[in-house]
Amino acid sequence: MALIVQKYGGTSVGTTERIRNVAAKVKKERDRGNDVIVVVSAMSGETNRLISLAAEIDENPAPREMDVLVSTGEQVTIALLSMALQKLDCDARSYTGGQIRILTDNAHSKARILDISGKAVREDLNAGRVVVVAGFQGVDEHGNITTLGRGGSDTTAVAMAAALKADECQIFTDVDGVYTTDPRVEPRARRLNKITFEEMLEMASLGSKVLQIRAVEFAGKYSVPLRVLSSFEEGEGTLITFEDEVMEEAKISGIAFNRDESQLTVRGVPDQPGIAYKILGPIADANVEIDMIVQNTSQDGTTDFTFTVHRNDYQKALGVLNQVSNDLGGREVKGNDGIVKLSLVGVGMRSHAGIASKMFKALSDEGINICMISTSEIKISVVVDEKYLELGVRSLHETFDLQQA
Ligand code: ADP
Ligand code: ASP
Ligand code: MG
Repeated sequence: MALIVQKYGGTSVGTTERIRNVAAKVKKERDRGNDVIVVVSAMSGETNRLISLAAEIDENPAPREMDVLVSTGEQVTIALLSMALQKLDCDARSYTGGQIRILTDNAHSKARILDISGKAVREDLNAGRVVVVAGFQGVDEHGNITTLGRGGSDTTAVAMAAALKADECQIFTDVDGVYTTDPRVEPRARRLNKITFEEMLEMASLGSKVLQIRAVEFAGKYSVPLRVLSSFEEGEGTLITFEDEVMEEAKISGIAFNRDESQLTVRGVPDQPGIAYKILGPIADANVEIDMIVQNTSQDGTTDFTFTVHRNDYQKALGVLNQVSNDLGGREVKGNDGIVKLSLVGVGMRSHAGIASKMFKALSDEGINICMISTSEIKISVVVDEKYLELGVRSLHETFDLQQA
């Protein structure tokens, strides 16, 4: 008998009919003789609805109250799913994050899981019950409700699987696996049978929101077998696995993109030791996370800096940069919040040369100007104008032969 953790996302529990469908799938797994823990998200659109309610009251609500608010979405679905299971004569019990005692730090809206007590869950499983857990939420050491960041139910599922040593963690969603790129942008995208943790982590970090980054990190760290599957169709889905287990030695596994980027440049600042710190330090102090950074080679003792930040932080970063530039005697500050980042990801890059030039040629053939480039061992990212997102993704997809056969 195996222990399976199944997670169903917002679309999969978007209506009561779909919740009944989930209950039937869970019961099927039980009938195979396996123990099941189910983690659910809020019904689709619900978390956004709650966030906009808060915005009607206060643009800057207290983080603690925000978490009390947004965690309610998942409480609705755990109750409804448990009812649906009971209706199928499948014994089930629902738990909020606090009831399970998913202990987190106190970083409201982006809390990290520190510990999970598996005791009550084990007792339920031993009594033959399905355990239904609210995703996305936990409690800090004082019992305050916390949430794990958007898409955080994935992380709840993986953490439950790690804590209870489950045989597999299955992420059921509205696509039937991880694709070479988002099938909403490239309909010819191909489902991957397997992808490595390392590649999946890059894909998630570079904008593929099919799995939350922390869920992938967690699964890799604790060796949790992780699979992405469709809630609506049968199939094998995509297994996230270790490199030596991946047979297809593709050079490139996928293309990720991120629309949430913006770019800032300061020109003509003195090229002296400490200048990067003087520019980027105040940005970090303003709690703005910096993504890519480029410093130009010096000309007449001055240099230029360009970096990217999340679009939500654009105005804040621009304000700080203007101030810094004034203090340092910079020549000008420029910004652009209409850019996107496209990235090629693949462990095969390590052993194959010429991938970057092939990528740049494909983009230039389409007349797409590259504003910034950054590379690491298994990825190449470029920043381009947002109007080229679809064209860029599709042309790279074709250039690297990623489409369906
Ligand atoms: P859920 O609500 O089930 O958590 P998400 O919306 O968070 O679902 O994630 C599923 C979505 O991720 C898909 O509908 C798809 O548009 C998007 N996506 C982005 N990149 C990829 C990719 N490489 N493969 C599959 N889906 C992707
Ligand atoms: N409901 C939360 C969100 O929309 C968590 C999740 O769905 O994973 O981000
Ligand atoms: Mg999700």
